[in-house]
Amino acid sequence: MKNVLISGASIAGTSLAYWLRRHGCTVTVVERAPAVRTGGYKVDIRGAALDVIGRMGLLDAVTARSTGMRVATHYDRKGRRVATMDADLFGGRAGDDVEIMRGDLNELLYDLTRDDAEYLFGDSVTAVSDDGLVTFEHAAPRRFDLIVGADGMRSNIRRIVFGEDARFVRDLGYYVSISTVPNTLGLDREEAVHAAPGRTANVYSTRQDDAAKALFMWASQPLSYDHRDTGRQKDLLAEAMAGVEWEVPALLGAVREADDFYFDSVSQVHMDSWSKGRVVLLGDAAYCASPASGQGTSLAIVGAYVLAGELAGGGGAAGYEREMREFVRVNQELGPVNVRGMVIGSRLALWFQLRMLRLLPYLPGKEKVVERIAGAIHRAAVAIRLKNYSE
Ligand SMILES: Cc1cc2nc3c(=O)[nH]c(=O)nc-3n(C[C@H](O)[C@H](O)[C@H](O)COP(=O)(O)OP(=O)(O)OC[C@H]3O[C@@H](n4cnc5c(N)ncnc54)[C@H](O)[C@@H]3O)c2cc1C
Repeated sequence: MKNVLISGASIAGTSLAYWLRRHGCTVTVVERAPAVRTGGYKVDIRGAALDVIGRMGLLDAVTARSTGMRVATHYDRKGRRVATMDADLFGGRAGDDVEIMRGDLNELLYDLTRDDAEYLFGDSVTAVSDDGLVTFEHAAPRRFDLIVGADGMRSNIRRIVFGEDARFVRDLGYYVSISTVPNTLGLDREEAVHAAPGRTANVYSTRQDDAAKALFMWASQPLSYDHRDTGRQKDLLAEAMAGVEWEVPALLGAVREADDFYFDSVSQVHMDSWSKGRVVLLGDAAYCASPASGQGTSLAIVGAYVLAGELAGGGGAAGYEREMREFVRVNQELGPVNVRGMVIGSRLALWFQLRMLRLLPYLPGKEKVVERIAGAIHRAAVAIRLKNYSE
């Protein structure tokens, strides 16, 4: 029976803990945060990932916790309604695809594994030796057969074992920020969007939320700042959004008070190999597709299923890479394309997009337009044939 350490108790780490336990492994999960991280933003589960969620017996629970979003409305700078569209179309969802708060999904996955796996919260790996000896910030050193880095785009395990972020993290030329703010717009399961050239603001409130989330995305050269200095990051956001009208000044004021402020570049992770010796990377740590792809969560869920199955079935890390590479490639391709649709560069292109959105319900070939918006992501979401790994 393999003794496995997973770094990171988010979507990838908890999903992997589940599948490794089903294959008879002993699992320890180390998570830097003091508890499983709830809250956060909404994410999508599509295609093959939904199939995996079904195989985990979580489909009903996930569907029951879906965000229930109804519509997305674009507003102009004076707050006039420009176009309203169905929330699923806006989010690129089709068929049974589910949108859920990331924290809700994380909680469901954690509950499924908390009694079978050992969780070490508030700790972090400090070193990994070739023979599997791992040292921690707090816990005593221990030896593992396998160490999995499922600790996100800025993975600690990747930095320790493979090298600095700069070798693997590729910026797409945009930044993203998201925070919880009071629902002063009175949103009820709806998104409100305002776009200016190179800058987009989006506020939404889901079925579960009394408050709202304010999400900003903007085109930018690489910014240099201290990752722990949220005050400075809030300044950078305010500078980026300076001059944008609609509700943006009030939202920026609310963001100043937010204690769950998130700020990062919109980036992807590209690596020639996801494993080295006893160490394997999973999810955003190995192949972050960026929030703009809308597929990061699904890649993490599918990757966990495949990694556990290949390890148990004898394919090992090489089998995991073989099964996942093409799936990752097509899903990562979505990132740079989608982000250009989310943050429009010029006033003319913006005018054209809003006009299209307004006319969409009346267009004779509207199915074709919809297919162009949702088709690419749907094709990518099913671009893997899942094996049945025996347990
Ligand atoms: C603003 C935003 C919007 C997004 N929207 C979508 C969307 O609509 N659809 C979608 O599919 N995806 C979306 N994503 C992406 C999605 O959240 C990720 O792709 C997904 O969560 C990947 O999961 P992961 O487990 O690999 O990494 P993460 O969720 O990043 O989790 C990494 C975990 O590792 C932990 N960790 C970090 N460092 C250490 C350490 N040193 N030691 C131990 N633990 C550590 C972290 O605390 C965290 O729990 C979005 C992301 C962002 C930021």
